[in-house]
Amino acid sequence: MSKSGKIFVISAPSGTGKTIIARKLKRKLKDIELITTYTTRKPRPGERNGYDYHFITSMKFKRMIKSNDFAEWALVYGSYYGTPKEEIISAINKGKKALLIIDTQGGMSIKRIFPEAVLIGLLPPSIKEQERRMRERSGLSEEEIQKRLKSAKEERKVILSEYDHRFINKNLENTIKKIATVIKRSG
Ligand code: 5GP
Repeated sequence: MSKSGKIFVISAPSGTGKTIIARKLKRKLKDIELITTYTTRKPRPGERNGYDYHFITSMKFKRMIKSNDFAEWALVYGSYYGTPKEEIISAINKGKKALLIIDTQGGMSIKRIFPEAVLIGLLPPSIKEQERRMRERSGLSEEEIQKRLKSAKEERKVILSEYDHRFINKNLENTIKKIATVIKRSG
């Protein structure tokens, strides 16, 4: 079966507002299935298991790697993150579009496995704004913020050179409209 126009990846350096964007997109486009990824990091205040992430132990994560359950997985800021293969296939088989919110290394891996996947990168209006948003978010230590700012620079490079579409997230509703247009057109 052709998977053309069926898999969409949104990557955004921390503090770009990707989680809220994903939730709003899901409400706007009924044929989207948000793929919930697995992680070994601890839930932040307010995060729900099975909704924001599947929060699992390192032992379970390693078992899933061995069983070949992930389309891709990566070590991000000291925790493992993985995209479940089965959830992507099942979304497509249901006639839905699979939406993955993962980092750029994940996006590049997905593109290797599913060359038809559409990669969408979000960039913050400025590094300063990004830092402000990161600090607003609960639970991040200064060390974690510095790590994220550094890798945000790397992610930005990949988005600019490799991604199919890139948008600066100046205004949430506008960004959502632009992404929705890309998804509708590629359907
Ligand atoms: P956070 O812990 O702040 O929610 O996410 C940290 C980073 O991990 C973000 O850039 C996020 O996009 C990325 N991420 C989340 N899930 C996955 C995944 O399944 N695979 C990969 N490669 N990255 C992920």
